[in-house]
Amino acid sequence: MATNLNGTTPLRLRPSAAKRDLNCAGAAQLIQALELEGGASEYSAMGNVAHNIAADCLRTRSNVRAFLGRRYTQDGFCITVDENMVDAVGIYVDIVLHDSSDGREPILSVEIGVDLSPLNAPGYERGTLDASLYYRAARFLRLYDYKHGEGVEVAGDDPQFFIYTAGELLKYPSCETVEIIVVQPRHRCAAAIGPAKRSMYTREEIFKWVRQKLIPGATACQAASPPLSPSVEACQFCPAKPDCPARYAQLREVLNMVKQSEIVVAGKKTEIKPGPLTPAQKVEILENADLIKSFISVVEKSLFKELSSGSDEYQGQLKLVHTSPNRKFNEHARDELTSPLFQHLVDDDIFTKTIKGIGEIEKSLKNKLTKAEAAAIMKQCTFKPPASLTVVKWSDKREEVKQAKACDVFKHLIKE
Ligand code: SF4
Repeated sequence: MATNLNGTTPLRLRPSAAKRDLNCAGAAQLIQALELEGGASEYSAMGNVAHNIAADCLRTRSNVRAFLGRRYTQDGFCITVDENMVDAVGIYVDIVLHDSSDGREPILSVEIGVDLSPLNAPGYERGTLDASLYYRAARFLRLYDYKHGEGVEVAGDDPQFFIYTAGELLKYPSCETVEIIVVQPRHRCAAAIGPAKRSMYTREEIFKWVRQKLIPGATACQAASPPLSPSVEACQFCPAKPDCPARYAQLREVLNMVKQSEIVVAGKKTEIKPGPLTPAQKVEILENADLIKSFISVVEKSLFKELSSGSDEYQGQLKLVHTSPNRKFNEHARDELTSPLFQHLVDDDIFTKTIKGIGEIEKSLKNKLTKAEAAAIMKQCTFKPPASLTVVKWSDKREEVKQAKACDVFKHLIKE
């Protein structure tokens, strides 16, 4: 067994961070050394409440709307179940129950503890699957993962699902095919492709991935000094991003490229030009935009800390000053009985009526009308302004907008 940071037991790896850890072997140890992981947030607490309600509804077949308005204390946060949560959980529960009623009488399991240790991928010990349906006669397994988050789209081929799937397949030695279903109703991708992403795999494909990617990747994470390998896949959600030495080495290279750019003074105007940078260097700089921004933010925080503790290192260069806060109304300003504002002004002078967001209004319409009627009304009342152009990475799913080259556009003006 390879040694790890504490030199004894393998460092515990989380399946939900597998995309990061399998792409950057040193990430888990760096995060552990910096004590960066493990804290709950209001978002994670909300997700846990949503998962608990979903599990309850699947186990007892209770109506999700019965949970509306209930309050839970979860991970130190007070979470109230609102319409949004009820709608999203309801979509997930409906999908699982709809699949389970296809006449083949599958076995439904909910909140399943998965033992990952037989996979022999050091560090991966156990995980929890949201739900599964097993079709014994068809040797077919459906595995469900509910994602309550609306910010980050989770792809159906994320390594975390392969890990859970491999662990679960060990319980069903005769199962040959598996369908992974990721349900993420609150993300905007649900409007375009529906709330569920479905992917089919054979048993052989899953275990080939375990042999070729998971076991070597997890073993590398346990090495004495595993390498840090920055990449878009690995670093995107890595909590060590602001403190990662590999990213700073990368940053130095990028800044060296920035040094090559030219400053052109035209009249009184100064312009920065990429100058002799090659296309590859320009791409490199753009791909590291988040690194450059996080570096600036780290430097700002560090300066604030130093100056706040009385440093005079920056005399004549930088100083602390008070910000200029805007005036705010106090708590009595809105009170019709006591506020002097109402003695001189009418409601229209004090309040503005603003239209709610498109999504919120559309949702209210859907609660009163059919989906088609709501869509027709929204079509009458909304428009899309002309889209502008923007530069994105090649992996972006949007179609490329081809532009004519300037020399082709003006070709007719050029005399042979
Ligand atoms: S920021 Fe990137 S390179 Fe650094 S530890 Fe995290 S994943 Fe690895």
